[in-house]
Amino acid sequence: MFATLSDRLTATFKNLRGKGRLSESDVNKAVRDIRLALLDADVALPVVKRFTTAVRERALGEEVNQALNPAQQVVKIVNEELVTILGGETRQIRFAKNPPTVIMLAGLQGSGKTTFAGKLGRWLKDRGHTPLLVAADLQRPNAVTQLEVVGERAGLKVFAPERGNVGGHDAVAGTGEGTRSFGDPVSVSRAGVEHARAQQHDVVIVDTAGRLAVDTNLMQQAADIRSAIQPDEVLFVIDAMIGQAAVETAQAFHEGVAFTGVVLSKLDGDARGGAALSIREVTGEPIMFASVGEKVTDIEVFHPDRMAGRILD
Ligand code: GDP
Repeated sequence: MFATLSDRLTATFKNLRGKGRLSESDVNKAVRDIRLALLDADVALPVVKRFTTAVRERALGEEVNQALNPAQQVVKIVNEELVTILGGETRQIRFAKNPPTVIMLAGLQGSGKTTFAGKLGRWLKDRGHTPLLVAADLQRPNAVTQLEVVGERAGLKVFAPERGNVGGHDAVAGTGEGTRSFGDPVSVSRAGVEHARAQQHDVVIVDTAGRLAVDTNLMQQAADIRSAIQPDEVLFVIDAMIGQAAVETAQAFHEGVAFTGVVLSKLDGDARGGAALSIREVTGEPIMFASVGEKVTDIEVFHPDRMAGRILD
């Protein structure tokens, strides 16, 4: 992961090493290389511009001029600016004062929402919580069954709509897909949260529908669910491999559902990492978790400093 970005930055820093003092042209060259490396990693152009401007200004300033090892100082500056752009501190989940804490998941179809619902539930369970998963993705024919399977693997209860009603059940029902018809996602979500409250689950994770591309109906449905259940957190799940489309997609979801945090999924793949750098910067919302595989335990809390370290490794 981030192979291209780290390789290119390493090459850039190698060129600086050994120089006693950095001339303006050394700095300009390094900044140009950093710019290319970031663009190559699919970081959005405005973000690249802001980043390189900040690095250039600092690299030409006193802190580098007076440093014993100017090249190392530039690496330090790049690291600090990466941490800043990635959000600085890790943001924890905000739990409700009066349980259940409601966490809604939103994102495009295939982004990894359902998988992440299981991972987050399991992660919370391992920390002493009693999460309930709610299957409100009624768009995809087998999404409900998929969440039930995910829930079973994670050892979690799942609230899913039953045929013709939204009463829900606690266990994996195993009814054939063809025999199931569902209520509307807003009622299912609301019923799921009520069920969690009645059964004293302290967290409820609501998996919502996605489409292959951003569309008005999808966004309206997600917005309706949001206003019906008043979540404490809305986590936007995005595939880290999405590349340049990350910014547009994130902006659309930010406007549509006002998400409060980001989950970068499929970070185990050969994502070029641009999404991680762009999304926080353009939406202002923190990246809170990374999804790093298909197993239920493949979840990591997102640490901006560790991610910056990984990029500069
Ligand atoms: P949804 O449509 O947003 O609910 O997406 P799914 O959870 O169904 O995931 C879509 C596909 O991506 C599935 O094949 C998952 O196994 C896979 N997937 C989800 N998260 C990850 C991840 O972190 N890493 C990898 N490699 N695959 C993932």
